[in-house]
Amino acid sequence: MIDAARVKDEFLDLACIASLSRREGAIARRLETILTGMGAVVEVDDAGERVGGETGNLFARFSGNRPGAAPFLLSAHMDTVGPAGAIRPVVEGDIIRTDRTSVLGGDDKAGIVAILEAIRVLRERAIPHSDIELVLTICEEAGLQGAKHFDTGHLRSRRGLVLDVDGVCELITRAPAANHVSVTIRGLSAHAGICPEQGLSAIQIAADAITGMRLGRLDDETTANLGVIQGGLASNIVPDAVVVRGETRSLSLDKLEAQTAHMRERFEAAAAGRFVVVGGRVHRAEATVDVRRQYDALDVREDASIVQLVRAAAAERGRTCRTRATGGASDANVFATRGIEVANLGCGMREIHTVNEWVDLKDVALTAELVVATLRLNASH
Ligand SMILES: [Zn+2]
Repeated sequence: MIDAARVKDEFLDLACIASLSRREGAIARRLETILTGMGAVVEVDDAGERVGGETGNLFARFSGNRPGAAPFLLSAHMDTVGPAGAIRPVVEGDIIRTDRTSVLGGDDKAGIVAILEAIRVLRERAIPHSDIELVLTICEEAGLQGAKHFDTGHLRSRRGLVLDVDGVCELITRAPAANHVSVTIRGLSAHAGICPEQGLSAIQIAADAITGMRLGRLDDETTANLGVIQGGLASNIVPDAVVVRGETRSLSLDKLEAQTAHMRERFEAAAAGRFVVVGGRVHRAEATVDVRRQYDALDVREDASIVQLVRAAAAERGRTCRTRATGGASDANVFATRGIEVANLGCGMREIHTVNEWVDLKDVALTAELVVATLRLNASH
């Protein structure tokens, strides 16, 4: 049913087009041509202008052949992480990797190719299917920004699949919510050799805060990280400012808020009560903690219709599709927040976000088969 040669050619075609976040112009134009050729009505939204990128999200609509069947959302993202200046795929049978100077970009082109192949098969073979709404996003790797700027009010689908996770024949039904934590610590600068007692070291205050902070894996649902620290001007100046940026994620909202409060409290406590008096004037240290929700959790019930559909589709192929949680977010988090019942289907990408990334085309083909079966079952429900 699946055309393996077509899957291979299309994957190599798309993988060779570099598409870092905000630089998805070339791949979007290529995909627009492909989708139009497949008979879709394609629109490009204004998300690109909002994020300073080359193109917006692609929104393609395919008419179904079962009037009245519930429309279905399919989605994947066009951007990749780096390094991805030039991508030179190395083909070893069904395994595609790179020359290890770049990522492969199977994250998420494996998802895009599986979706395109599934739609072609549904139409060529006149397999019963509903209208299909396909959203190919920009800037997923840059904080899900494309999906966040996509107007889901344009969608008629109430359920669907995002294809954007490693593994195959697995369905992500739970993914964490995340808070971004940005901290500015203000001290007071002074000459480090002549009058250090007239300064307040923001670096030392940051160090006090971070020492003893709970970071890393906190439990099987919760993680925390400080990823950026910037501050200071020269080794002979007591530093008056440090900026620290980090995050915490959890499948549990209570745990997310507890860890966020812990991080905030550590910074505020480290600055509290620190002061110097210079020339009769009191200078107090300050910690300003800014917390922003990056995305909300994905939490699809085991008895949700989307889970039942994909399980039934897998069973038809003689497979079992297990559901699992992940510590990474995807556009599914955003669609779920907007009230669409959506889960994230594994699509064959492996060792993602590394130059060792690879894809087994048999996994991409199996994913396409699962999507075909899911759409057919969706049309009969
Ligand atoms: Zn991805």
